[in-house]
This record gives sequence, structure tokens and C-alpha cells, in this order.
Amino acid sequence: MKITRIAVYHLLIPIQGKPYKLSGGRVFTEFDSTVVSLETDDGVTGWGEACPFGPIYGAAFGAGIRAAMEILAPAVLGLDPLQAERVYDAMDRALQHTGFAKSAIDIACWDIAGKVAGRPLVDLLGGRAQLSPRLISSVSTGTPDEMLAVIARFRGKGYRAHSAKAGGDPAEDVERFRAIDADNAARGDYMQADANRGWALDQALRFARGIAECDMVIEQPCQTIEECAELRRRTGLPVMLDEMVCEVPDLLRAIEHRACDAINIKITRMGGLSRARQIRDLCSHAGLSVSVQDTGGADIAAAAMAHLAQSTPTRIFRGAWDPRELAGVSNADGGPMAADGTIAVSDAPGLGVTPKLDVLGEPIAVYD
Ligand code: MG
Repeated sequence: MKITRIAVYHLLIPIQGKPYKLSGGRVFTEFDSTVVSLETDDGVTGWGEACPFGPIYGAAFGAGIRAAMEILAPAVLGLDPLQAERVYDAMDRALQHTGFAKSAIDIACWDIAGKVAGRPLVDLLGGRAQLSPRLISSVSTGTPDEMLAVIARFRGKGYRAHSAKAGGDPAEDVERFRAIDADNAARGDYMQADANRGWALDQALRFARGIAECDMVIEQPCQTIEECAELRRRTGLPVMLDEMVCEVPDLLRAIEHRACDAINIKITRMGGLSRARQIRDLCSHAGLSVSVQDTGGADIAAAAMAHLAQSTPTRIFRGAWDPRELAGVSNADGGPMAADGTIAVSDAPGLGVTPKLDVLGEPIAVYD
């Protein structure tokens, strides 16, 4: 089997509701998504989506993904998509790092593999370890009352796990998260306080001191692995790393420095399903828990995320985030089924999705 044609689609997806706010005054209003299709000489087509969490979340932005495709697509034409690691080798030879762009091609290779096997991707990723992985909310920063209202809305949809954003000012963040914890105490939901690298170490220590009696995990507090390790060592509080872990060597370094108790896996940031699965399995062996997410997108990204989430053992699994909570547009039929705060994939082969060509429009680039 050979990859014979690659089409690249660009889709701007409005964020539902208010603009999304991260620490440090960062705001974004749309997902800048890139979708690729890989066609093969056997007539099987695979799909993948790569979409950053706005241009200010991590080292990725939509136009960068599409520029990288000009290098990556010619490098993988003619290769066998069933040999995903060899496809990855070719991408690595053509372009250093840039996993967020390689992700779309890698996911499409896995979609093809599932379709050829006639099995859902969850089976190729190890099989269903959970019947209905729980979803975790994503709560934009705001006043305590605003954030509690959003959490209450998610609770009404069955969510029992939440990731709420810190704003950056440690005193205000203590006020926010004490209020959230007081509300949460009677309910027993799982809670993450996500600073998105927004604190210097002294600020993170002040926050940690203020919420030390609360039941929550501190997510990505500082910019560096050393700062996060220091925070964890001096407070004894559980720390999850997110943006800082992009590639396998980042995870190995975090483990070496004892910088975290958990990793938030984002498929696009890790470079696709091939690398996200490796990171998930290394975390399991290293005694780290994981969330399974992607950085954005719509139904195609949600499908890849849900297949990986459902193949992740409950013991280490903390929650899956469905980007369709924010996506104002659907880009495929047959995406994972979300209900009662959980998500599950169907038995349809591959990702199980049928992209909506009328929504994707004409490809912005074709390689053949
Ligand atoms: Mg995060």
C-alpha cells in the first residue's frame, strides 16, 4: 500500500460562548484547525486533524502547521501508511520537531490501519480498557462566581471532573480555587487548577500555600521542569505537567527530575497517536497518571482522542477532554458519543468518522 495523494484543508472553528481566557491575559476566540486526508493506491483514505489551543497556548499555531505540510507531505508520498513508524522516520528526516504538524499525518495513517484491519482504532491501541471514560471540563478563568456557574453547568451534563484555569495573580487564584473547593467538597468531583505556565516559582508557592488544604491537582504551574520539581518538592502537593511535555525526551526529563505526578497528554502536541501512545504507556510504567486530550479541533480530533482515552487503563486515567465542548462547528459525522459526562467510540473501522466535505470546503493544498 502507498500514499498517493495528500489534501490539506483549513477550517476556522469559532469558540462557543465567550472568548476563552488563560492566565496572563491570554485570550482566543477560534480554533485554527488543519485537516489532512491521505489517499492510497488501495482506495482507502485516512483522515487526521491538528489544531492548537489558540496561538498563545504552546509552541504551535495554525499557519505553522500548514507551512510544515509543504515539507512533510512530499516526504511521505509513496510510503506505506501501515508502517506508521517508518512514515514518522521520513517526517523526522524532513523536519525537526514540529510534532504538532506531523500529528495530522500520523493520525491519518492510524485511521487507514484501522480501516484496513476492519477494526476501530481503540483495538489497535490495545483494546477497550474502559467502557465509558469520564470527561473533564475546561473552565475558562473568571471571577469565582463565573467559574462556579460554568462548573455547575458541566455538572448538569454529568461531568464529575473539572480543569479550571488560574488567572495568574496568586492571591486572586487562591480566592478562586478556595471557592471552587468549598463548593466541590460536598460533591467529591475531581479538580485540576491549571495555571498554563503562568506563575513564577514564588507565585506558585504562594498559591500552593493558599490551597494546601484543598483537594486538587496543580496543573502546569511554571515555565520549567526545574521550577515544577521545586514546587512539588517544597509543597508535597500533586503536580500535573501539560504544555511542557511535548516529546518523549521531555517526559524522561520530567521523570528524572521528579517534576510531576501526572501528565496531560495532548495528541497534537505529542506529535500524533504514535507518540501519544508511547508517552501514555511510559507514564504507566513510571507511576504517573494521565489525562488524554487534544489541544483543539472538532469531531476528527475528538475521535482520535476518544480512541486513545478508551484504551487507557482506569488506574492511571484522570479524564478526557472533548474539544467539541468549545468547537462551534462539526467537521465530521460518526464522532465519539458523549453522554452523562463520559465518552465512547463506536465499532466503526479506524477513527469511525466521515468528514463533512461541505464544511471542509476545497483543499488549500494537494500533493500527489
Ligand atoms: Mg492544561
